[in-house]
Formats: sequence, structure tokens, C-alpha cells
Amino acid sequence: MSAKGGYHAIFVAFPPRSDPFSPTEYEPTTFKELGIIDPICDACEKLNFTKPTAIQAKAIPEALDGKDVIGLAQTGSGKTAAFSIPILQALWDNPRPLFACILAPTRELSYQIAQQIEALGATIGARCATIVGGMDMMTQAIALSKRPHVIVATPGRLQDHLENTKGFSLRGLKYLVMDEADRLLDLDFGPIIDKLLQNIPKERTTMLFSATMTTKVAKLQRASLRSPVRVEIGTKYSTVSTLHQYYVFMPFAHKDTYLVHLANEQAGHSIIVFTRTVHDAQRLAVMLRLLGFSAIPLHGQLSQTARLGALNKFKSGGRDIMVCTDVAARGLDIPAVDLVINFDIPTHSKDYIHRVGRTARAGRQGRSVTLVTQYDIELLQRIETAIGKRLEEFPGASDRDMVMLLSERVGDAQRAAVREMQETGIGGAGGAGKRKRRQAASLEDERDRDDDVVEAGSYRSKAKSGRGKRKTR
Ligand code: AMP
Repeated sequence: MSAKGGYHAIFVAFPPRSDPFSPTEYEPTTFKELGIIDPICDACEKLNFTKPTAIQAKAIPEALDGKDVIGLAQTGSGKTAAFSIPILQALWDNPRPLFACILAPTRELSYQIAQQIEALGATIGARCATIVGGMDMMTQAIALSKRPHVIVATPGRLQDHLENTKGFSLRGLKYLVMDEADRLLDLDFGPIIDKLLQNIPKERTTMLFSATMTTKVAKLQRASLRSPVRVEIGTKYSTVSTLHQYYVFMPFAHKDTYLVHLANEQAGHSIIVFTRTVHDAQRLAVMLRLLGFSAIPLHGQLSQTARLGALNKFKSGGRDIMVCTDVAARGLDIPAVDLVINFDIPTHSKDYIHRVGRTARAGRQGRSVTLVTQYDIELLQRIETAIGKRLEEFPGASDRDMVMLLSERVGDAQRAAVREMQETGIGGAGGAGKRKRRQAASLEDERDRDDDVVEAGSYRSKAKSGRGKRKTR
């Protein structure tokens, strides 16, 4: 790489980083030693949670003590169980409906949390309902009328039910969790959360989890938590040590061909490809499919049912490659992803960390490959500075002649993909309606992005950088 730009000449002193699964981070212990009751220990065992992760070891005893907790933990650290286990244990001691409410920023994450609560609470008969937008209000109202113990919800839809569903209230609530609080606030859920806080008892236990501590999160913490105990895992920006991070350098014009080459080389592995735009997510998924790969798109222009369907197909192994925008990057727990490919280099280092956090979860090994073009060197440097690591050149993609052997077939598939998109209208060019949908979808993707002003040591405003614009096709 140095011959192609010499960007490694910049030297940055990196702080030591920590690994949430590393025994040096905490004294290894068992769930039983943390004070967890046998039925929940049994559920952990069934899920192959052999010992608590660092965030669990730190947060669970505090929460069992009835304290408010603010947890700063990176994706994949086991934070869902860190808040779910103490809630389920408290529910066991004091079983009552509408006992706990968990707020999450996205629908997919809500389903994922609910799944984990159901699995951990199976042995104690805990009932859980998921209340998210994009699904039928009436079906949800029926689920609420059955008085579940735990509700996992996105804030907007929950508020909708509080206002419009007869007989439903959270006045008996004992536990409130705000998961991915930074995200909740980025998505402008702040005013709805403020309203919710007015309609739930002040006497409650509150837990707030966030990957990063922004000023907005600190404000929410002050407004909603009482003398919280702060538990923190890892540094603000970090990636786990079991993740091997690579880059491939290529001319901008041949990105698709390099992607197909990588997909070929990595056939048989489960792969997530991240793109910046909805259009590219759809286009690449179609193109890969036309080339014989089992690929599926996941982005904001698909209906909620289609998104869940795509996720489930990928999770169950029915598809090897998922091509998605950052909508999917947050919090989704997709087990056993072998490889993350950044088709577009993220313009924000935090997005990079969230994207590559899809692999190497729960102590497993994983790899990420970032496609770097002539326009991306500066962004790569920023990311490397932020994560405190240098990416290595990916072995196997450096032989340009080999890669370019694919270019004709890729060119044919590119053209066929564009034709198919014009016919279906999804993610593609079309009339005004389609354009509007596309705009709405890319807006959703935009909203799904962290726009902290301090980015990898440099000041960035909320406006898109010129560099980002240049590359968006
Ligand atoms: P989370 O950070 O909650 O999204 O969790 C990331 C992944 O870690 C999920 O697949 C969990 O099932 C898994 N996990 C959570 N706790 C443990 C544990 N104690 N041991 C092993 N895996 C765990």
C-alpha cells in the first residue's frame, strides 16, 4: 500500500484496547456466582452462554441490587443479556404483567432483543411482546391485551399504543431499558422518549445502554436515571481482537469486478456487503444473483416484512450474501458472519466500527475487507486512526490481471441488473413516485447514521462531505 500512496507515513500513538471476552478485562466467573437463579442459569446454558461476558459480569450484580445502570459497551459484547437477565430475575421474584419495557431504535433490533428475552425467560414462563412500526396495530393491540411481562418497542409505535389502544398503560412499569440510546437520540426519538418518561412511574429501575457517550446521551441519562452506576467496556472506538481487518486497493471503475472476485474467492462463507446507497445495495444484490451467487438485499426501501424475510433467510443460511445499507448495521445479531465487505468505505469511523462489528462476535474469529479506491485514502487513514489499528492488504485480491478476467461477465451482469431494477422499480431509476420512494429510503439511511461532530480526530459538520458525494452513484 505504501507504494500506492504512502498513507502509512502518519504515525499515531494508539491507546491500549480491551477485549470484552478477554479474561484480563474481568475475573471469569459463572452466572450462578453473579447471583442468577437456577432456571435462568439453565437457560444461559441452553444458549451456550458458558460464562458471563465482561459487561454482564459488571452490570448484572448492580442491576440485581436494584441500581440504575448506564452501560457503555460495544456491539457484540453481550449487552442484551446484561439487561435482560436481571429483569427476568426480578420478574421471577415479583411476577406481574407489563413489568419491563425495552426501547430500541430499530425494528430489527427490537425483534432480536425479544428473541433473546424469550430464550432466556423460557424456563420461567416470561411472556414478551414486540411493538414496532410497520406491523399491524390491531394485532399488536391484541398482544398487549394479553398483558405480556416484557415489551420490546420502538418509541414511536409504543407512544401510538399508549395514546390509542384502550386499556393499555405502563403505569405499573418496574423496569425501563433504553438500548442503543445514542441511536435512539440520533433518530430524533428524544421528544417521544420525554413523553414516555412522563407516563411511567418515577419509582422504577432504569438502564441505559449506549455504544458511545454523547452529550445528548448524557442529557438523557440525567433526565431519566437516578444515581446510576456506570459500567464500561472497551474504549470509545474499538474493534475486538478476534477481528482481522483488511483492505483491497483498486481503481474506482472496477469496484464491482473486485467485489465479484472476492465473493468468488470466499464462496461458502457467509458475507455481509455494506453499500452507502439503497440503489447500490439493490443493484449489487441483483448483479450477484445474476452471476449465480445466493445474494439478498436489505435496505430501507423494502417493506418491513421483506426486510425481516431477508434477514431470516440470511440468518438461516438460505442466502450466503446479504447486501445492505447502514440500516442493517446497528445492533443486528447475525450469528456466524464470516466476512464483512465494505463495498463503500464508510464516511464515518463509527459506521465502520458498527459494520465490522457484524463479524467476530462473542469471541469468534471474523474478517472484514474494505474496498479502497483512489478517492478513499484519507477516509481510510481516519478510520485507522479512530480504531488504533492499521488494516492489512487482503491476500488474494492483489493480482489485478486475475481479477480483471471477470470484467466481461461482470459488465453483462451489471447491465442486466440495471434492466431488472428498471422493471421492478426497487432501488432503481423510474418515475417520480419511484424517485420519491428512493429519496425517502436514502433519507432513512441517512437517519441511520451517527453524525457526531467529532469524527476520528477531525471536525465534521452534519453536511455530507464532498468526497462522500463524489462517490455516490
Ligand atoms: P449482544 O451484544 O447482546 O448483541 O450479543 C452479542 C452476541 O453474544 C449474541 O449472539 C449473544 O447471543 C452472545 N452472547 C451474549 N452473552 C453471551 C455469553 N455470556 N457467552 C457467549 N455468548 C454470549
